[in-house]
Parts: sequence; structure tokens; C-alpha cells
Amino acid sequence: MQTLETARAQIAAYAGPSLTIMEVCGTHTHEIFRLGLRQILPKNVHLVSGPGCPVCVTPPSYIDEALALAAMDNVTIATFGDLLRIPGSHGSLRTAREHGATIRLVYSPLDALEMAKEQPEREIVFLSVGFETTVPGACAAVLAAHEQGIPNFSLLTANKTMPKAYEALMDNVDCYLYPGHVCAITGTAVCEELLAKGVSGVVAGFTMHELVTAMAVILHHAQNKKPFFVNAYPRVVRPEGNREAQALIARCMEAVASEWRGLGVIPDSGLALKQEFAAMDARKRFALPPMQSHTNPRCRCGDILRGAANPHDCPLFDKACTPDHPVGACMVSSEGTCAAYYHYFH
Ligand code: SF4
Repeated sequence: MQTLETARAQIAAYAGPSLTIMEVCGTHTHEIFRLGLRQILPKNVHLVSGPGCPVCVTPPSYIDEALALAAMDNVTIATFGDLLRIPGSHGSLRTAREHGATIRLVYSPLDALEMAKEQPEREIVFLSVGFETTVPGACAAVLAAHEQGIPNFSLLTANKTMPKAYEALMDNVDCYLYPGHVCAITGTAVCEELLAKGVSGVVAGFTMHELVTAMAVILHHAQNKKPFFVNAYPRVVRPEGNREAQALIARCMEAVASEWRGLGVIPDSGLALKQEFAAMDARKRFALPPMQSHTNPRCRCGDILRGAANPHDCPLFDKACTPDHPVGACMVSSEGTCAAYYHYFH
């Protein structure tokens, strides 16, 4: 890797065309703000945030499904904390908990499985939200429950995969800053496939040196005006990815159409449990009816997740919508773009 000074000098010397780079990952969004990297980019290079915050892209209809389950007498919802405040169509899990629903915070799907073993009289539903990075953990819990014959454990899935989202947004951007931790699981074949379709991108890590290097690599290649792909995070991301994690996903899950906040329903962009594990699919187990998402019409989360707006374009930003009183998902999650703008521009 080149030195930080060389990479900075390369960025400062950029003389290429105007460029829109999408940082897909919510952690990248926050690190770029925290490290002040937007300020070192040339004026004609624009960073836009994408749909890489798993909580942000979870649609209200999913929260509505979780609320319907939480309203059932013998159901305990097990969830990561950041889902609690995401608004559904008519409320949040936090509100439901305040009104008596049994909702417990866990740190992993295996914690939820332990809860199921300790409370055999209750149904434990784990809210399985996240990208390729978190799905293997959910699959490991499903396999463990299957092998141990735990009958009261299930998943409400809203897991998503990135490739189809990249394709859905590729006309909006000149180059992707690919999320390093997702690529560590998937490998780089998907980036190569997008390159063959003319989509440029660079896999980036998360330190100052790695992010500045990734930017310098992008600007270096952009001057040639030809599509490019570079893995600038080789210490973690290998071309083949993490085969063990991929095998876990392939064993338990299959691709399905999935609704993304702001992007609508994208075919083959989600993961659901295979028929073999249908008994652990909470939608089937509890015969949940299809639900329609309803959002606050003034919230611009959808546009922000497509890279078509930034939080300052939202009339509610820092007025009706703040981290203490979030109106939309992008202000709730610690990885959300509106939360990042609030934190660093406030
Ligand atoms: S500031 Fe709030 S209401 Fe506006 S787009 Fe962001 S999350 Fe939605």
C-alpha cells in the first residue's frame, strides 16, 4: 500500500472528470465523516451514501410483522437493539415493549436460541436483519436448533444481499466504494461481474490509511475514463471470500425477492429459509398475512438510500427528526446517513 502522504497527494492532484462515488456501507459513511475525508476530496468529486445500513433499508412492513408477532400471547421477540426504534407503519417495537410486549435484546442469534432452550413454554422469534456479514450467524443458530430439536425457535427474516442492489443503483453512480466486510464474505466475483457491465468500484477497509488509499486508487483510475475494479483491502478480502460462511448460507437460505426501503422490491436480493427449515420460518409458522409499508411522506430516507438526496434536503432534518426523536430509519441507526449528518454537521 502506498504511504498516506502519497495517497493524499494523488487525491489533491486529481484532474479528471466530475465523479460521483457511492459509499455503500454505513460504517464507511460514519468513518469518512469522523476522519474528515470529505474535506480532502476535490470539488468535482462527490460522495453519496448508499443502502448499506441494514436497519435503514428494512421496510416498515417488516416492523409491522414483528409487531404482529409481539402482540401474540406466548411470543418473545429477540432482537438487536438498533431495530427497537425503527418506525413501522403505526409504531415501533420500543413502543410495543412499553405497552407490555415481550421483547428482549440479544447480542447474537445463538443468544436467542439459548433463550428458546431456557423457556420451552414460549415461542422465541429472532429478528434476522442484515447483509451477508450477519446471515451466517443466523444460519448457525438454525442448524443448531435443527440438530438439537429445539421446537420453539424461529426467525423472522429480512436478510438482504448486495449484488442486486448494486445493479439497481448503478445508473446513479460512477463508482462504488465497496464494503470491505461484505466482500470478506462474498469475495470479489460480484465486483468483477459488475466491472464486466461497466461498473467501477474499489473495495475499501475502514482505517484512515485504507480509506484514503481507496479514494486515491479511485481517482487514479477515473482519470483514464475506463471502468475499473481494485481490491484495496487485500489484507482481509480474498477473491474467493469466506467459503465456510458461504456454505452456511447456501445450506439454510435461498434467494427471494425482497423489499428495500427506498428501492422497492428487488428480485433475488433477499434471503429466506429453505423449505427444509420452514418450521423455523416465523412467517409460515405464525401464518403472517402480507403487510403493506406506510412511511411518513415527508421523510426522504428512500431518496437518501438511493443516493438521490442528502439529509439536508429533508424538511424534517434537525427539526421534527433528531436522534432522540427519529422520524425515519436513517436517523435511528448508528450507521444511518441522517444520524451521521446530525452528529458531524450539527
Ligand atoms: S432526517 Fe429524518 S425524516 Fe428526514 S430523511 Fe432523515 S430519517 Fe427521514
